Amino acid sequence: MNTELGPDIPRRCPCGAPTVVLTSKTKENPGRRFYRCGVVFGENQLFKWADDAMLEEIESLSVKHEDRMI
Ligand SMILES: [Zn+2]
Repeated sequence: MNTELGPDIPRRCPCGAPTVVLTSKTKENPGRRFYRCGVVFGENQLFKWADDAMLEEIESLSVKHEDRMI
């Protein structure tokens, strides 16, 4: 199951349960991938859209790049 997880995805929820990667089937976000706590789905549990995590990664990379330019 963990083979699906990218290097930037936490392998465990703060509660200690392993992370699962799923594909949304809701009308609002069809086919959108996300990861969450594998045991509990609720408040204070791990939940993140995979593309949001990717955007954050790109932003942090571009910040590092700017640092290097200076
Ligand atoms: Zn959890």
